[in-house]
Amino acid sequence: MTTRYTVPRGTYDILPSDSFKWEFLESTFRQVAKLYGYREISTPMFEQVEVFERSAGDKTDIVQKEMYRFTDRKGRSFALRPEGTAPVIRSFVENNLGANVNVTKLFYIGSMFRYDRPQSGRSRQFSQYGCECIGSNHPYYDAENIAVFWTYLKTLGLKNFVVEINSIGCPDCSEAYHIALKQYFYKSLDVLCPDCKDRYEKKPKRLLDCKVSKCKEISLYAPSMLDFLDQKCNTHFLEVQKYLDMFQIAYIVNPRIVRGLDYYSQTAFEFINNNLGAQNALGGGGRYDGLVQQMGGKDTPAVGFAGGFSRLLLSMEQENLYQGENQRPKYYIATLSEKATPVAIKLIHFLRTKGHYTEFEIEKTSMKAQMKSADKLKAEFVIFLGEEEIEKKYLTIKNMDTTAQWKVEEKEFIASMT
Ligand code: AMP
Repeated sequence: MTTRYTVPRGTYDILPSDSFKWEFLESTFRQVAKLYGYREISTPMFEQVEVFERSAGDKTDIVQKEMYRFTDRKGRSFALRPEGTAPVIRSFVENNLGANVNVTKLFYIGSMFRYDRPQSGRSRQFSQYGCECIGSNHPYYDAENIAVFWTYLKTLGLKNFVVEINSIGCPDCSEAYHIALKQYFYKSLDVLCPDCKDRYEKKPKRLLDCKVSKCKEISLYAPSMLDFLDQKCNTHFLEVQKYLDMFQIAYIVNPRIVRGLDYYSQTAFEFINNNLGAQNALGGGGRYDGLVQQMGGKDTPAVGFAGGFSRLLLSMEQENLYQGENQRPKYYIATLSEKATPVAIKLIHFLRTKGHYTEFEIEKTSMKAQMKSADKLKAEFVIFLGEEEIEKKYLTIKNMDTTAQWKVEEKEFIASMT
């Protein structure tokens, strides 16, 4: 017996019956990002491992546990990209994209790879969209970046989402906060999960982010970062809120939002759909003022977000927002004899080169079968090529919506299209 193969665990095929949904999500994102002056950038699916180790932080889960690493034939270490920001910043620095402009706005769409436990809304290969605004620390840009995401979701028609924002401060104000957090968690250290024990030492802020219920319970009354912001960060955060108010974007301040990667500072935000279950973040982002320099560029502040298409697709389905596949053939060519085939082929080729979706089934024999097919495909017009039509060089056309039928000279029909 021959072996039948399956997709690798944590990946999936996008089948033709669903691909229109993805196409819609992607094209709408492109449209909306462009409204805000973002320009598309595409980077390779793999990078030198250091691009991620240096940016995300070599102690983060993404880098330590989830990255697909490989060596090529020459022994060089690469990783399939687990996220989009580091590659975009690598490219920004490498191609000097910030030259001669104050603010560089870039967006991307692409597959990311993380070795994680697959579940609803979480896969090992997933497609992300994201926007990076590089070159300014002005809080307006934080709000504008959030506005792109918000407008995108609104344009898709989604209603069930909330915007949550926080400030995680800067390295200066984090120091005192880390001490306070460690004091708070110290008494529970024995009962924290193994990951949290590790976080306690290396990244106390991430203790707030644990999904284990016991840890969640313990962290409930942990000190809030917002009480530790220095004046600069506090003012920045208030200004972000002021601009969000001007954009009329409703938000919740949630002091428990911390981002998974090391490079974030000040603003952090998430878009949450509470109907999605455990994986309820549609996307998130924040400010990362140190990253460009860390990646070898000049000291350049930046803010950005990323979201995943699969959770959006689930949200769209939950809110019944897909109208169905919108690809009707404009023409279906029905033939009655072998003699008609060359004429039909010439005609379909002509119509397709003129930009019309045209169907023709060379193996269909009876007229009944062809009409059934045209109906099923929801063709707008059927063009009949019978004996008489071929002989007298005209076409019989039927409007399938109104059932009206008429004859037109082949020459005239072709001229009307040129
Ligand atoms: P992150 O960079 O982890 O904050 O991810 C940003 C967004 O990408 C998340 O909010 C999800 O919508 C999506 N995402 C992240 N990881 C996965 C995954 N493993 N599978 C599907 N979507 C994901």
